[in-house]
Amino acid sequence: MTASQTTADTCPDIAANLAAVQAEIATAARDADRDPATVTLVAVSKTHGPERAEAALTAGHRVFGENRVQEAQSKWPALRERVPDLELHLIGPLQSNKAADAVALFDVIESVDRPKLAAALSREMERQGRRPTCLIQVNTGEEPQKAGIVPTEADAFIAHCRDDLGLPVTGVMCIPPADEEPAPHFALLRQIARRNGLDVVSMGMSGDFAIAVGQGATHVRVGTAIFGTRPKPPAP
Ligand SMILES: *Cc1c(COP(=O)(O)O)cnc(C)c1O
Repeated sequence: MTASQTTADTCPDIAANLAAVQAEIATAARDADRDPATVTLVAVSKTHGPERAEAALTAGHRVFGENRVQEAQSKWPALRERVPDLELHLIGPLQSNKAADAVALFDVIESVDRPKLAAALSREMERQGRRPTCLIQVNTGEEPQKAGIVPTEADAFIAHCRDDLGLPVTGVMCIPPADEEPAPHFALLRQIARRNGLDVVSMGMSGDFAIAVGQGATHVRVGTAIFGTRPKPPAP
């Protein structure tokens, strides 16, 4: 990439974007008779360089999401040295052979979605003595290409993770199908959380976080609306 291409992608005003998203969350919460303080904004910094995460940290933001273990490892340890109270969420698919790295780096793993991964996480937590909070990813649209446990198997899988494996499961997460109304998917996810006694419901992205707040989201994961359009991955 040439210098002119680099500077052509001017950095958005991340502090202003954060404030705007927080304001929209607050409005959506009040409209639903909810306390805005019960909704946590997870700022999704994936694919962006550390300088954008840095801008959000400077603006006072502390909760971030990344979807790849390796990318997060290259970006966050240095930032955490300076800002020890930040909270890092893994929101992307996790391979069992990366469980050790994920347990070492993340505070919340939002994408626990199959028994083999759950077992690997349980072993690693035991070994490292570190217990990141776990969310169970539910494939509410039952899309074959998408990660997540299908809704009919969610209760049994949650019980397996909590009771058999001793994982610190606090909630559920979903990514609704791109071409459907998100609200029914959000409502289904909230139901699954409720009937399993789980407090955390992670749902809603840049295009639909206000709807998610209306449906009971405790965490919304917002990238583009804060950090701008993501750079295209380099051509192979
Ligand atoms: C990238 C990503 C987001 C953020 O998406 P935006 O549309 O940029 O807000 C949220 N959740 C997950 C799981 C993601 O991978």
